[in-house]
Amino acid sequence: MSEKRILQMIPPTDPRLLSKIAPFQDDTLKIHKFENRESLADAMNDTMRKYGGLGLSCNQVGLPYRMFVMGGHPQIEAGRTRYCFNPEVLDMSKETVMMKEGCLSFPFIFLAIRRPKWVFVKYEDEDKKVKEEHLHGMSSRIFQHENEHMNGYIFTDLVSKFKLDRAKAKAKKEINLILKKQKHGKTIH
Ligand SMILES: [Zn+2]
Repeated sequence: MSEKRILQMIPPTDPRLLSKIAPFQDDTLKIHKFENRESLADAMNDTMRKYGGLGLSCNQVGLPYRMFVMGGHPQIEAGRTRYCFNPEVLDMSKETVMMKEGCLSFPFIFLAIRRPKWVFVKYEDEDKKVKEEHLHGMSSRIFQHENEHMNGYIFTDLVSKFKLDRAKAKAKKEINLILKKQKHGKTIH
């Protein structure tokens, strides 16, 4: 078994995170030392799991691939993990739901965001098979969030400045609390 390759998150102000990614092409994998789709999928999955996320897009780790990984949580579709190359949302419900969302590029920031309840999506998987699926619940939510990353949008674009400032203040408080505990030598969980 080869060693795990953990990718580096880039800062949320990095232009690579804020620009639209071109369609994925297999022959560009070698530029970043990936042998094939599977080796990219493995590195993305290992990185997502290491940081404890439910989704991770290639541009969050500075890679110019129109690809994201999602899932892996035991309570969401029994832990199913999807590797989505060239993802698209083909249709969505008129009905919307409000849900709190986080993003690995914005530690400790959680924002309540209204989104379509379900989506009908298309993507290529790690074996280059084209898939079309209806996604519901958390999977619908995660796909929509990651698909936005593909176009250079981040979830902070979707809320008012007031809401964002409030979430940032809350995050700062939590981070300070952790730093304080660390200073006093208490273990953090
Ligand atoms: Zn995100």
